[in-house]
Amino acid sequence: PADEVEQAAECNQPFLGELLGAADLECSLCIRMFFEPVTTPCGHTFCKECLERCLDHRPSCPLCKQSLREYLKAGSYSPTVLLQDIMLAAFPAQLAERRELHRAEMAELSNLTKNIPIFVCTMSFPGVACPLHIFEPRYRLMIRRCQETGTRRFGMCIYENGKSFADYGCMLEIRQLELLADGRSLVDTVGGRRFRVLRRGHRDGYNTADIEYLEDKKVDGEELQELQSLHESTYQLAQRFWEHEEVAPRHLSLQHGPLPEKEEDIQASADGPMWCWWLISVLPLDPSFQLRLFSSTSLRARLTQLQRVLLALLQPP
Ligand SMILES: [Zn+2]
Ligand SMILES: [Zn+2]
Repeated sequence: PADEVEQAAECNQPFLGELLGAADLECSLCIRMFFEPVTTPCGHTFCKECLERCLDHRPSCPLCKQSLREYLKAGSYSPTVLLQDIMLAAFPAQLAERRELHRAEMAELSNLTKNIPIFVCTMSFPGVACPLHIFEPRYRLMIRRCQETGTRRFGMCIYENGKSFADYGCMLEIRQLELLADGRSLVDTVGGRRFRVLRRGHRDGYNTADIEYLEDKKVDGEELQELQSLHESTYQLAQRFWEHEEVAPRHLSLQHGPLPEKEEDIQASADGPMWCWWLISVLPLDPSFQLRLFSSTSLRARLTQLQRVLLALLQPP
């Protein structure tokens, strides 16, 4: 009889999935099953990602408007473990589907040639540091995604009249990120490869682009020898300029330090010698001229233009 009682109890026990509908486990922000649910101090539950996107705009609960300033400041979003356990027990198939959806989204966001995120702000160059202050909600989202996908990379383009951004840009790699208490962040980045924009797009408020990476045309034989001597003479000119107290503005050398060393193989990198980019970034040049130098895939043309600029700057007034 004891067995029978136990069996009866089991039969009367309603199944969790019958008590709950899938709609009970839906995030009110994305109207999908919770993914990595977190619960705010006011007791409301959202997907972590959905809540973060709301907090990018204002530090209050999207449902009850209670201030979440302190919650944001603490910066730790602990998962609502019980809810995760319930979802796994009651709706394992739906949960697996939701995870797969997230995985697919992450894969799409990780693509570094199609629909890459574009930050429209400043000229940046291969190998050159580019510190950024992130405060706009759309860029907070962009940077967070770069961190979450693990690419830690995004494209940087300058604004261009008539287009949303220029046809050429530089990949930036996040070296360090300091998250401030109010959700803004200070991001230390360094320039990676140059690219050309093939197609413009949008994603969740920020610009995106399909791109192709630029590569300097390689030369050999006599042409290479000529290029090497042009490189050598331009570097010497750069040294003369940089070490010339009267012409190189003092604040420039204080701010940027010494001219970088030249490289052994001038064609080793797809972007050519780094010192050229460094110099182009610190010289007082118009961004449209910088962009012209930037978009050329001829090292010879770049060096020739640099010589012209340096000679003009070395000219006594
Ligand atoms: Zn959600
Ligand atoms: Zn709330």
